[in-house]
Amino acid sequence: MTDNKTFPSEIPTLYIVPTPIGNLGDITQRALDVLSSVDVIAAEDTRHTGKLLSHFNIQTKTFALHDHNEQQKAQMLVDRLLQGQTIALVSDAGTPLISDPGYHLVSQCRQAGVKVVPLPGACAFVTALSASGLPSDRFSFEGFLPAKSKGRRDKFTEIEKAERTCIFYESPHRIMDSLQDMLAVLGPERDVVLARELTKTFETIQGMPLGELIDWINEDDNRKKGEMVLLIHGYRESESEAFSPEAIRLLTLLVKELPLKKAAAIVAEMHNLKKNALYKWGLDNLE
Ligand code: SAM
Repeated sequence: MTDNKTFPSEIPTLYIVPTPIGNLGDITQRALDVLSSVDVIAAEDTRHTGKLLSHFNIQTKTFALHDHNEQQKAQMLVDRLLQGQTIALVSDAGTPLISDPGYHLVSQCRQAGVKVVPLPGACAFVTALSASGLPSDRFSFEGFLPAKSKGRRDKFTEIEKAERTCIFYESPHRIMDSLQDMLAVLGPERDVVLARELTKTFETIQGMPLGELIDWINEDDNRKKGEMVLLIHGYRESESEAFSPEAIRLLTLLVKELPLKKAAAIVAEMHNLKKNALYKWGLDNLE
């Protein structure tokens, strides 16, 4: 580990400072040092950030910079930076600019030659992905799902054949409607992970085929609550690639004596496979 020689900075600097997404213990020492030392903190919600600052006994002044005034105020902040002030940008939770304000300010700072120093830290989708069990070699973060059903179905159609893991933010008010739209486009077998209340008391990370996940959420209304991330397994060309020759041979034998549905259920149980996918494979190949 090396000390960051750029801090405290002698040239105009905008620091991008992530804050916890639930557990206050996730703030970094460097974030605390920067927040204590800058001239002003540009915050999405000054009251919200005020509570964080008072918890850590930080006295730095705050300035409101949110979606509704960012374009208008960004130039003023750039001017202050050019006059020699140092500024930290924070959002209500997690990493600024990730489904949060900050894009206009950062882009104007860079155009004006102001140094932008990003601090690593909490981010809900990275936290969710790291524990999801879904492939993480290729993924895309898609931000919030559209508010209307048509927009969501269009979005799911757009990613239907994408092989990468796709990650969305969703609000608890819309989660069931969104999952129904997802079901209509991607079908019940697509593996989906719901990661809710990350880093908090009721943290839950549940992954299963979409049809089963919807049933699982419906069993307990608490599972519909809180902050949540949805992660969708990428498209797989053929589920049959996952079926071993032994499983296929057993299914082929059993369908001679049993209805396909029953045979698929038995083979799925014995070989730890998805029965609907096996049934579908049987329909396509054995009937
Ligand atoms: N900038 C933040 C980040 O770095 O993740 C995201 C801000 S966005 C306005 C808020 C959304 O992030 C929530 O609606 C939820 O989808 C997700 N989120 C934030 N905190 C979360 C948590 N503790 N658990 C699960 N999702 C969370």
